[in-house]
Amino acid sequence: MRADRLDAFIVTHLPNIFYLTGFSGSSGIVLATRNGAILFTDQRYTIQAKQEVTAAQVKIFRGSLLKAAGEQLGQRPVRRVGFEAQHLAVAQKLTLAKAAGRGIQWFAWDGKVERLRVLKDESELATMREAADIACSSWTETLPFAKPGVSEIDLAAEIEFRMRRKGADGPAFDTIIASGERGAWPHARASRKLVKKNELVVFDLGAILRGYSSDLTRTVCVGRASPEMRRWYGAVLEAQQAARQVLRPGVTAEQVDAAARDVLKRAGLARKFIHSTGHGLGLEVHESPRLGRGDHSVLRAGTVVTLEPGVYIEGKGGIRIEDDALVTKSGAEYLTHANRELIEIG
Ligand code: ZN
Ligand code: ZN
Repeated sequence: MRADRLDAFIVTHLPNIFYLTGFSGSSGIVLATRNGAILFTDQRYTIQAKQEVTAAQVKIFRGSLLKAAGEQLGQRPVRRVGFEAQHLAVAQKLTLAKAAGRGIQWFAWDGKVERLRVLKDESELATMREAADIACSSWTETLPFAKPGVSEIDLAAEIEFRMRRKGADGPAFDTIIASGERGAWPHARASRKLVKKNELVVFDLGAILRGYSSDLTRTVCVGRASPEMRRWYGAVLEAQQAARQVLRPGVTAEQVDAAARDVLKRAGLARKFIHSTGHGLGLEVHESPRLGRGDHSVLRAGTVVTLEPGVYIEGKGGIRIEDDALVTKSGAEYLTHANRELIEIG
């Protein structure tokens, strides 16, 4: 704020509010000034905010919090104010600006808290390791249910039930179970489709624990894998290993992506790999950096990213292998430890 000569910063993105203040409610706005911060929330959160928030003063309001925050701004001698343009609808920005009155210069100040969130401290990492363990063991324990005739929804339910029982706040996203040709959709939600013999099944799941997410993908074959499936699986696994080998502090996000992409290119599968190699992970399932072409950010120790190359063949299926990795001073530490080899069930 000092560098950009801002007098105040309005934070509206909930994961950023949680990161800055510890408040986990779903209704809040933070007004940060150079001398301190105020969290605005409503009366449903009076007790919760009192217990969770130590890094900000709490003010309880009825009605529009944007209006309340704007009026507070209007009463202060502030001129230059930052706000999260990517997390504020145009109509909300108008409400805020109207309540604050004239004389304020507004600056779109996006990605500032996100940049702080990229580097995790030890207590965040301890939570993330636990969230990863919950995902891995929930998947491993669900594998015996993967048989011909089970529905994708049943498999998702088995996983989500286990994550809950192990203490997760819930699934970090809608569990993806994609069997047979549905595997060619990278983001196929579990459907009522029944798993058939000799089909590949993609499982993509994550647990959210005290706000932090894990994100794990494994692909198995229910029955016998064809030579073609084995070739695809081998290429994806090799691509992931290539990414694992280059992951260390000092490399760029794009370099990690290139390592995986080169392997799939040599295997003639470059055009079947239709997304980035990975993404940052933390309070959100997708956060900075993006391990893809064009992201030149330099990775530093303390960053958690996923490594998840995949191939998607229309009419046949898909294969993706995804792990969560912490960049350390000497290389990387894997938070997920589930078996990565091709498993054939039955
Ligand atoms: Zn995933
Ligand atoms: Zn992911």
